[in-house]
Amino acid sequence: MGQPPSKPRFPQPGDHIYCERKGGLYDHHGIYVGDDMVIHLEGKAKKLGPLPACHKCGDKRVENGEIAKVCIDCFLDGETLQIYDYGVLFREFSNRKRGTCCPRHSKPPHEVISAATDLLERTGFGAYDMFANNCEDFAVYCKTGSAESYQIVGHIEQASLAAAVAAGAAGGPAGIIVCAAVVAANAISKEITGAKRHN
Ligand SMILES: [Zn+2]
Repeated sequence: MGQPPSKPRFPQPGDHIYCERKGGLYDHHGIYVGDDMVIHLEGKAKKLGPLPACHKCGDKRVENGEIAKVCIDCFLDGETLQIYDYGVLFREFSNRKRGTCCPRHSKPPHEVISAATDLLERTGFGAYDMFANNCEDFAVYCKTGSAESYQIVGHIEQASLAAAVAAGAAGGPAGIIVCAAVVAANAISKEITGAKRHN
């Protein structure tokens, strides 16, 4: 698996940024809109209580349902900022960790920012769902106009591989298990990439 570049990168307005959560168990994604602020889909976990007060957010913090605009420090929560790449070559895409880049091209920055702002202020993005409507979907949707969560697809691919290895090691019917895993992965990834908003 390729790793994202390790040299520090500074976000530009309209960039899709992400960072680790829970020690790398998953990544959290958002759109950097400039002025040290990020718009992101928070999800239910964050909705359990109000965000702690923050000097930097000040009056600029906006929360509307599950979408929020917060300062970059609140977004990163002490983790390292990474920038999600768009328009990567397919060969590079298949070698890199899922959920860090995308072969599709980004819209111009001002359109990305206005899409994120519009979702925050007016239309919303529906209820957070880890598989069908997550923070990566939100950011990819702002960047490209359609939502795809590659992070989840990556987890499914790893599970399929693990099933194949386990079946092989046990001398079991590897072909059948791999087929079942691939069918399941395809079905889920189709659901993720297919059942998306068209507005
Ligand atoms: Zn803040």
